[in-house]
Amino acid sequence: MICMKTNTLIIGGGISGLHTAYLLQKLNKDFILMDARNRLGGRILSSNYQTSESEKSNKIHYDEKSPAFDLGPSWFWPGQSNLHTLINELELGGSVFHQHATGQSLYEDQQGNVQQGFYGISMEGAYRLNGGMQLLTAKLASKIDNNKILQSAKVETLEYIDDQIRASIQNTTNNERLEIISKNIVLALPPRLAMSSIRFKPALSKPRINELNSYATWMAGHAKIIATYAKPFWIEKELSGDAVSHIGPMREIHDASSHPSNNDETRGYALFGFLGVPGSYRKGNENEIKQAAIAQLVRLFGEDAAHPTNVILKDWAQEEFTATEVDQTMGGGHASSSIRDYTESDFADRLIWSGTETADHLRGYNGLIEGAIEASLRTVDLLVDSSKTDKKWGGVF
Ligand SMILES: Cc1cc2nc3c(=O)[nH]c(=O)nc-3n(C[C@H](O)[C@H](O)[C@H](O)COP(=O)(O)OP(=O)(O)OC[C@H]3O[C@@H](n4cnc5c(N)ncnc54)[C@H](O)[C@@H]3O)c2cc1C
Repeated sequence: MICMKTNTLIIGGGISGLHTAYLLQKLNKDFILMDARNRLGGRILSSNYQTSESEKSNKIHYDEKSPAFDLGPSWFWPGQSNLHTLINELELGGSVFHQHATGQSLYEDQQGNVQQGFYGISMEGAYRLNGGMQLLTAKLASKIDNNKILQSAKVETLEYIDDQIRASIQNTTNNERLEIISKNIVLALPPRLAMSSIRFKPALSKPRINELNSYATWMAGHAKIIATYAKPFWIEKELSGDAVSHIGPMREIHDASSHPSNNDETRGYALFGFLGVPGSYRKGNENEIKQAAIAQLVRLFGEDAAHPTNVILKDWAQEEFTATEVDQTMGGGHASSSIRDYTESDFADRLIWSGTETADHLRGYNGLIEGAIEASLRTVDLLVDSSKTDKKWGGVF
C-alpha cells in the first residue's frame, strides 16, 4: 500500500475542489487534490462537435481549442461575481458569449399542437463559454501542479485518529490501495453522495446524517440530449431554438450552437433538451429515447431536424460519482436551507464540507457553478484564518 502525507486533502476535482486547490497553490500551501473519476471537472463536461464516424465512435472527446457543446452546465449569469472574477483571472473573457435567443420560442401542448411566441422559456441574458464550460475547469487544472493531483482515486473511509485524518483510497482503474494522512479534509463533493459512499470513523450522528442527506444534488437526476446539425435551420426560420413541450421526451429545449464567430468548418450547430423521462426508465432505453427526441424536434422545428449529424444522451443519474439511488427521480431543486455547520466537531473541525450544495441558500447560488466557487472561497477562508470561526483549532498551516 502507498502512503502519503499532506496538510490538506481535497476530495473532489469538480470546479469547487479545483478552485480550492488553485487558491491554496497561490497561497503556497500544501495540499493534494483527488478525484474518483479518471478526469477532472465533475459535473462540468463538454464534448467537441463530432461529424465523422470515427470521431463519433470516440463518444466524448474534448479539446479546448475546438468548438464544443455542454453535457453538463451551459450557462452562467450576470451578477455571479465570483465566477466572473475567475473567468477574468483565467483570461477567458474573450470566450464569453450570449446564449442565442433571437427569434420565436415554441410551445407544444398535450395534444401535440405547436404554437409560436411562448414567453418565459427563453434563456436570453445567460452567458456561455466558447469551447464549452469545460474550458473553465481545463484552464483551472492547468494552473495546478500536476504532481498534486490524483485521478481515479476514490475515498472510501475517513478516520479521525491521533489528531489527524486518515483517508483510505481505492484506485478505480487498478484497484490498488492508497492511504493519505492529512491534517484537514475538504469534502468538495455533494453531501448526499458523501453520505452514501464514504465511511466516517467516528460515525457522524444520525441527525447530522439526515441533515446532510437532505441537500439534494443539483441536477443529479437529470439527463440531456444534444442533437448536432450541419445547418442552423431553426435560426433560418427565425426561431430561437427554445421550446417547452408537454409531450416530450424533452420537456425543455434550447440552442446549443457554438459561438457565431467560429468559422463554418468548425462551427457546430446544435439543439439540446432536458429529458422529462425519469432515470429509472431511461436506463436501457437510450436508443428509443434518442429516436423519440428526434421525432419531437421534427414536430417542433420541421423536417430539417430529422437528420442530425450526431445525437448524444448524457444521463447524470447513471453517474456513480454524481448521483445516488435517491436521485433517480428528477426532483431535487435548490436546497432551501444552508448547512448548519461547515466543519465536523468529532473530527476536531478539520473535516470541512464544501462543494456547491453547501453554498449559502440565501444568496441563491447553491447548486450552481457560482455556488461551487462561493463554497471554495469560504473553505479557504476557514483553512487560512481560523479566527474567522469559533472553532477550537488554531490555524492549520
Ligand atoms: C445537466 C446539468 C446541467 C447544469 N446546468 C447548470 C448551469 O447551466 N449553470 C450552472 O451554474 N450550473 C449548472 N449545473 C450545476 C453545476 O454543474 C454544478 O454546480 C457544479 O459543476 C458543481 O461543482 P462541484 O465541484 O461542487 O461538484 P462536482 O462537479 O459534482 O464535483 C464533485 C467531484 O467529486 C468527485 N467524487 C465523488 N465521490 C468521490 C469519492 N468518493 N472520492 C473522490 N472523489 C469523489 C466526483 O467525481 C466529482 O468530480 C448543471 C449540472 C448538470 C448535471
